[in-house]
Amino acid sequence: MSHHEIPLSKPDITKLEEDLVLEVLQSGRLSIGPMQERFESLVAERCGTTHAIACSSGTAGLHMVLVGLGIGPGDEVITTPFSFIASANAILYVGATPVFVDICPSSLNANPELIEKAITPRTKAILAVEAFGNPTYFDEYQKIAAKHEIPLIEDSCEALGTVYKGTPAGSFGRAGVFGFYPNKQITTGEGGMIVTNDDRLANACRSLRNQGRAVAGRGAIAGGSTSGSWLHHERLGFNYRMSEINAALGVAQMQRLDELIQLRNDTANRYVERLLDVPELTLPTIDSECSVMSWFVFVVRLAAGYTREERDRVIAGLRMHEIGAGDYFPCIHLQPIYQRAMGFGEGSYPIAESVSQRTIALPFFSGMSLRDIDIVAQTLELMISRENLSRRD
Ligand SMILES: *Cc1c(COP(=O)(O)O)cnc(C)c1O
Repeated sequence: MSHHEIPLSKPDITKLEEDLVLEVLQSGRLSIGPMQERFESLVAERCGTTHAIACSSGTAGLHMVLVGLGIGPGDEVITTPFSFIASANAILYVGATPVFVDICPSSLNANPELIEKAITPRTKAILAVEAFGNPTYFDEYQKIAAKHEIPLIEDSCEALGTVYKGTPAGSFGRAGVFGFYPNKQITTGEGGMIVTNDDRLANACRSLRNQGRAVAGRGAIAGGSTSGSWLHHERLGFNYRMSEINAALGVAQMQRLDELIQLRNDTANRYVERLLDVPELTLPTIDSECSVMSWFVFVVRLAAGYTREERDRVIAGLRMHEIGAGDYFPCIHLQPIYQRAMGFGEGSYPIAESVSQRTIALPFFSGMSLRDIDIVAQTLELMISRENLSRRD
């Protein structure tokens, strides 16, 4: 995944994952089978929802939820500019308009007051993201959505396992979506999952992921000629299915979720201890009402006043020392495709822009050794001092 000696992220795969994948390969059933159902049950149980629908990626999950809710051209969806690009892209896929609102500088999540101000008669949903797993404001988003009678869509791709004010991430909204790319808390290689309590939306998504086929009861057999439904397509669907091989990885990883969250917390705590006294750095802030914090990545930021160029040199310096570091996240509205398609420029969302040009994602994975954390912290301090020195010249 990375040639760096200490990578930015690393999946945690054990014998359990290997055994379950092998079980699938030996079973001969490689798609639409029992592993998917097991994986779905484990995620639904964890989130306390009645439905979980596995799919091929987090992006596919977001796309299906928007289609399933009937959102399309002419509709507006309020979202954050400080996220991975997929959360806004899903809105463009259905022909709707993403309406960005600026973020709060401590949680890095969309500012609820600005969401409320951005609501118009065309607003058809709020698509909120737990930035780096941080759940702050999700209860407020829920209230705003209820008050205006529009759905809250939760892009929880960075927050599997997080619990805030007693509610698991993914279950605040009408639907929540998780992603299982190898840098997430759990991975299936590629994969995603929609969770919801809405029967109709769940059925729509099950049909959409499977080429618009009717949902013929759970576990309908692929290609079964007796059912007569395999080549019957009720709506414009997609092939967004998850294979049994991916689902097997998901089952094993879900069984280990508590362990993985604990290991990631240990790493985060060690970073905090190690970096707390560095005056040039702002560390992540987690609300005390977050009873389980499931860390996606560990992102620090340089104090106000440091420029993007200085931040980029710190990242380059870390990489020079074989340390994987990333610029999570460049603002979505400043990505070339969004500038071109929607006419955004610098200054549109000043807080998101100011934060985003100073953030540094540090190597972060379960089981990261204390020695590696110390090397990263030491090198980071060194690179910052180097910037401070060159400022004085
Ligand atoms: C990872 C991620 C996604 C997309 O997940 P994929 O499985 O890679 O498609 C969507 N939104 C956010 C916020 C993410 O971090």
